[in-house]
Formats: sequence, C-alpha cells, structure tokens
Amino acid sequence: EVEHGTALEMFRASVARAPGTTAIRYFDAELTLADVDSASDALAVALQDGGFRSGDRLGVYVQNDPAFVIAVVAAWKAGGAAVVINPMNKARELTYLLADSGATALVCLDELHESVAAEVLASGATRVLTVITCSARDWQTRDDPRVLPQREVRRGGTLDLLELLDRCAGRTPVADPPSPDDVAVLTYTSGTTGEPKGAMNTHAVIAFNAQAFRDWMGMTPDDSVLAVAPLFHITGLVGHFALALLVPCPLVLTHRFQPEVVLDAIREHRPTFTVGAITAFIALSGVEGLTAEDFRSFRLVYSGGAPVPPAVNQQFLERTGHYIHNAYGLTESTSITHLVPPGARAPVDPTSGALSIGLPIFGTSVRILDDSGEEVPVGEVGEIAIAGRQVVPGYWGKPEATAAALPGGELRTGDVGFMDADGWFYVVDRKKDMINAAGYKVWPREVEDVLYDHPAVLEAAVVGVPDPYRGETVKAFVVLKPGAAATEEDLVDHCKARLAAYKYPRQVQLVPELPKTPTGKILRRQLRDQ
Ligand code: ATP
Repeated sequence: EVEHGTALEMFRASVARAPGTTAIRYFDAELTLADVDSASDALAVALQDGGFRSGDRLGVYVQNDPAFVIAVVAAWKAGGAAVVINPMNKARELTYLLADSGATALVCLDELHESVAAEVLASGATRVLTVITCSARDWQTRDDPRVLPQREVRRGGTLDLLELLDRCAGRTPVADPPSPDDVAVLTYTSGTTGEPKGAMNTHAVIAFNAQAFRDWMGMTPDDSVLAVAPLFHITGLVGHFALALLVPCPLVLTHRFQPEVVLDAIREHRPTFTVGAITAFIALSGVEGLTAEDFRSFRLVYSGGAPVPPAVNQQFLERTGHYIHNAYGLTESTSITHLVPPGARAPVDPTSGALSIGLPIFGTSVRILDDSGEEVPVGEVGEIAIAGRQVVPGYWGKPEATAAALPGGELRTGDVGFMDADGWFYVVDRKKDMINAAGYKVWPREVEDVLYDHPAVLEAAVVGVPDPYRGETVKAFVVLKPGAAATEEDLVDHCKARLAAYKYPRQVQLVPELPKTPTGKILRRQLRDQ
C-alpha cells in the first residue's frame, strides 16, 4: 500500500512529524524541514502574487542547491507543477523547454543563468513573466570556494529569491491540494534519442517510487542521502530529493558533481546512501587520497541509469569495501523498475558476462516482447516492456509520442534484454545502439565490459562506424587510467583474445575524455556522429 497519494502530502506528513529534522546539508549551511516548509510557503505566495495560478508550470533551472528543493515544493503549494531543467542548457534549449511546457515563471541561480534567462525573456518565445534568481552564496555558504563560479551578484530585471522569502515570510499560499493524477514534475528526456519530451511525473508516480526506494533500502531517519546525480534528472529527483523528504532524512547537496568536492562532503557529512551513474563512482574512486575509511558511513551504494561493468564493480569493492548494487529504470518509469536487493549480489549472465539489473520492484510487471509485440519465452531476448504504478501516463502535449512509447499504458523501454529462469533480468543494450557488422549483431555493452577488464582502462564506449566491407564495424573509444600505459593495438589484442571475430573492435582510439550527459552517462551517439 502506498501511504501518500501525492508528493505534497508526503512532504507535509514529514514536516508535521519531524519539523526539526535536517532536510538539507549544503557545505556549511543546514536547513530543517521547517525551514524548507516556510521558505516554500513564502515562494508559493510570491508566485501567486506574480500571477501564478493552479495548473501553471514553474521552470526550475537550478543546480543541486537548496533553491531546487524549495522551488519544486513551492510549485506544488501554489497548485502547479515544476519543470526541472538541466542547468547546463543554453538559451536555445531553455527556450524550447519553457515553450514546450508553457511555463509561466522561472527560478534560476544567478551565477550562471541570469543572463541566459534574460535572453530567453527578451526573445518573447515563451510565456514566462516572472524570473526569480538566487545565489548559491545565499545559503550561508559564505565564500566557500567549492561553490563555483563566484561572480558578483548582479540583479537586474529579475526578482531576488531571498528578498521574496523575506517579503512573503509568514504567509501561506491558498490553492486546492493536488490530486494524485496531477502532474507534479515534468522531467524532460535528455534527447539522446530525439527531441526532448516532458515525461509527466504525476504526484502518484513520484509518491509511489519514493516509497519503493525507502522500503527496499530500509531507509530510516538515521540515514542520510548523498546526491551524486543532478536533482533535475529522475535519478536525483526520486532517489535523492523525494526519498529524503519522505523518510525524512538529510539530503547532502554539493551544487554539482565534482569528485573532490563530493569526497569532502562525504568526509564532512557521513552519508549512508547514494545512487548515481557508474561514471560517478569511477570518478570518485579515482580521487587521490581516497581510502576505504571514507566510505565507512555508507550502508548502501546503488548505480542506476547506465550499465555496471563487472570489472568496475570489482575495483570499487576493492577500493572502498562497497559492492555497487545495480538498479534499472527510465525517466518514463519515474526511476526504478528493477533493482538488486540490498545485500544481494547480481547474478552474471554466463554468455555475455553482464551483471543482472535485478528483480522487478513490487507492483511492477515486466514483459519481454518480440518485434511484433508478442511475449517471448523465458531466456529469450526482446524489448523490455513495463507496466506499474511508477510508469508515467505520457508526455506533455505529445499524444503521438505517448501512444508510440506507452501503448495501452505499458512502457516500451527501447532496451533489449531477457529474464533468466530465476526471474532475474538483464539488459543486453539499447535497441538503437546495436551494431550490424555484416549481418552479425554486436551489442556495444558486451565489448565495453571486456575493455573494462583491461587494467589500464578507465572508461570505454563502443559504437558502430561505417565500413565499406561490413556495412558497419566496431570502434572503441577509450580513456586510460592516469599513468597507465597501453597502446591502441594492446587493447585491440585484448578484445580479440576474448571476443568472437565479428565482435572485437577493429579500431580503438585513445581519447582524453568521453562525452557525457549531466548524469554521467556516456553519449555514444555523439561519438558515432564524430
Ligand atoms: P533519452 O531518453 O532522453 O534519450 P536516456 O535514455 O538516457 O535519454 P533515461 O530515462 O535517463 O534517458 O535513461 C533510461 C535508460 O538508461 C534506459 O532505457 C537504459 O537504456 C539505461 N539504463 C538505466 N539503468 C540501467 C542499468 N542498470 N543497466 C543498463 N542500462 C540502464
């Protein structure tokens, strides 16, 4: 049974139960649940004073900062929804998201975004009337050099968050409480597979999956959640923000992911739980001076959003004493649909060597479908399709895209995978990333896993490139560990010895870094386009 019908109800229950609980730790600033409650009340009132009405959307264009939490809750209290926006977006992308969602107000952090927001406003391409800015420094972080960049605060033409909070302090917004099926947050797909679409994360799906996280992880108020994923991404939105508000327990924020800064926060705040993309853990375990002691406060470490190469998991275990539990999910499933239960070890597919993504969480039914949409027998490979209480009802304003991705309410994930005889699931790869080498199917992930087995490899990405003879051939981009010496030929030979002739990369290119999404996912598409 789900305790809370809406995400706002979930937040209010935590405030009523434990107002003095620390909600956010941000460098040397600390905000209690009561602080977040009163600040979000004041912001909601300010929004309403500025014309924001029930059913409206508030753009939240903010890093992992307390303002993110306050703004999203304020949107709910004012009777509307939040549109959470990647702060790395530039004016063109921001304009698209604001216009597509029809947002009428925007909260942003001035250091980076005020000028971008001004450009968007001036363009007249959106309905945004109110822009509210704040500074990362506003949360008593003083001159902490870890909050970057620190330019002088200039406020022209936009409203100042702290001023608004002062001006509206003590007032309570008036709006009908949201219903479970109302949109709470629009999360835009990152566009690795086309034009960004706003997944409608309703109050009900967020409340359901926050509770799923809490119950599977056995989270209590003694826990503390470290945010390594951005809060605007579904992993951070549910696995950090909504989870911490529900338990309730402190949420440790570090503005953005910088491995050294995150390690400092771990040492200072001793978090017990985190979930993030595997590249975050690769980066963390590479920080000089890291010891197993640094990770002693953790109870559980989860990786979601991208495949976990077994070799990386092993190295992390040796370095920190922690096994990385795999979790699987999509924006459209409000984060998790599958996970490796705490303490369990993911079985390994004997054919490909891949780690299982785990078991479906409760209330989730999973089918593996062939190209005609028929279910395939156990053990056979097909597209993963998911139905459950965490699956979104569709994309904002895009009925055709909704019908294509969610026929009959079941989510077609675009991922190819299978279930073994014991009910464990495996992702083979993304359907779209399959390489067709002279008619042979090559799945990049399998080749990447083999590359990660090489001691010199830090990160690897495999794509198909045009080939006059095979149509497509396998190419790998590799980042070496600092100080490691391996040549491109060494890596080709390593793969050749371990993979069938049609699978091993004919070309390996050493590169200083790989292109990534803000969540840390490696962008194979960008490498292909190169
Ligand atoms: P977009 O949909 O915007 O193009 P995206 O697919 O990265 O970008 P997300 O919803 O963030 O959007 O990611 C979901 C995808 O991430 C899944 O479809 C799957 O391909 C991948 N994924 C998530 N978790 C795992 C996992 N544990 N193992 C392998 N792949 C995973």
